[in-house]
Amino acid sequence: MTETTPDDRKGLKAKTRLIHAGRRPSEQFGFVNTPIYRGSTVLFPTLDDLTRRNAKFSYGTQGTPTTEALETAWTELSGAAGTVLVPSGLAAISLALLTAVKAGDHILVTDSAYRPTRIFCDGILARMGVETTYYDPWIGAGIEALIRANTSVIFLEAPGSQSFEMQDVPAIAKVARAKGVCTILDNTWATPIFFPPHERGVDMAIEAGTKYLSGHSDLLLGLVSANAQWLNRLRATFDAFAMCPGPEDVFLALRGLRTLDLRLREAERQGLALATWLAERDEVAVVLHPALPSCPGHALWKRDFLGSSGLFSVILRPCSTAALAAMLDGLKLFGMGFSWGGFESLVIPFDCRVYRTATQWSPPGPALRFSVGLEDIEDLKADLAEGFERLRAVG
Ligand SMILES: *Cc1c(COP(=O)(O)O)cnc(C)c1O
Repeated sequence: MTETTPDDRKGLKAKTRLIHAGRRPSEQFGFVNTPIYRGSTVLFPTLDDLTRRNAKFSYGTQGTPTTEALETAWTELSGAAGTVLVPSGLAAISLALLTAVKAGDHILVTDSAYRPTRIFCDGILARMGVETTYYDPWIGAGIEALIRANTSVIFLEAPGSQSFEMQDVPAIAKVARAKGVCTILDNTWATPIFFPPHERGVDMAIEAGTKYLSGHSDLLLGLVSANAQWLNRLRATFDAFAMCPGPEDVFLALRGLRTLDLRLREAERQGLALATWLAERDEVAVVLHPALPSCPGHALWKRDFLGSSGLFSVILRPCSTAALAAMLDGLKLFGMGFSWGGFESLVIPFDCRVYRTATQWSPPGPALRFSVGLEDIEDLKADLAEGFERLRAVG
């Protein structure tokens, strides 16, 4: 039977590895995919085996062939030493932070971080005696000045998933490494396909598998990958919580993994087409898309990233709330709702002013975030063009 080993795959292109990683047909009666293993109990044939826990899998919380398939594939894709799976992207963030902090520590978190990350830091971590300082995402190597004797973590998100500030990840990672500080990156926007996190110097990387890995808005999942330095602690923290995702969701994520490259590249194409079109509209003041040369983060994106996904924002020229509502309420193809990365297009208004502390967010008008789906781009433009007509009509 033809089946690649991790060694065989080392010489293959990422796109090919994505198809083969985490699959062992020879262990599944030749079936192409690893099936859904459901289970708590694993039986040991003898007392000796039981006593020594002599089995590849010993209990459901510690993994199954289904979870192992996704973990190993993600590890390979990320260039990590290992991966753990948790039930949501936010759980991945909290698990990574809890892996690296202890009472009395100080951590640095980008001001552009996903808002629930801040809520975790300001609530749970503060209660545990961990102090958070938010920093300007553009800080780069200047982060050094904020590192204290008790700083244990620098948390990054590049680009910020609402406001799209880019971060100089290699520069921050270099300073952190020299100071013995752990770096954690929320890599959900780029995925390891467009930003290989560990190669760029990050210790732990988070992915909300809910977004592009799922790709279908039908599951919640989080992944944390770690380099060799952090894997054992990550795994031990995971085992202590036993915060395991359900087997169906892991299976669906594995299914999503096989088309991830294809879908991301289409999202990139669609995203660029829509962002370029929006940039030409009179109603739009600014487009925040790192792959557009007009975006402030473009140079960093070009240097460090291998592509752009289909999530970006625009700032409209000043208009009334009623005009914005007229535009958004009448859209037929763009849904309004949280999350992103599915096959369907979404739009959502946002306002960072309500939570920023280290930086000022003062856009000239309302901000909208788009997640571009797989619809025909001309239909999407027409839906938005009609929306802009309604916006203008109200004023
Ligand atoms: C959605 C999201 C998360 C959280 O993922 P959930 O699975 O919804 O908990 C984390 N980070 C970013 C950047 C996200 O967009």
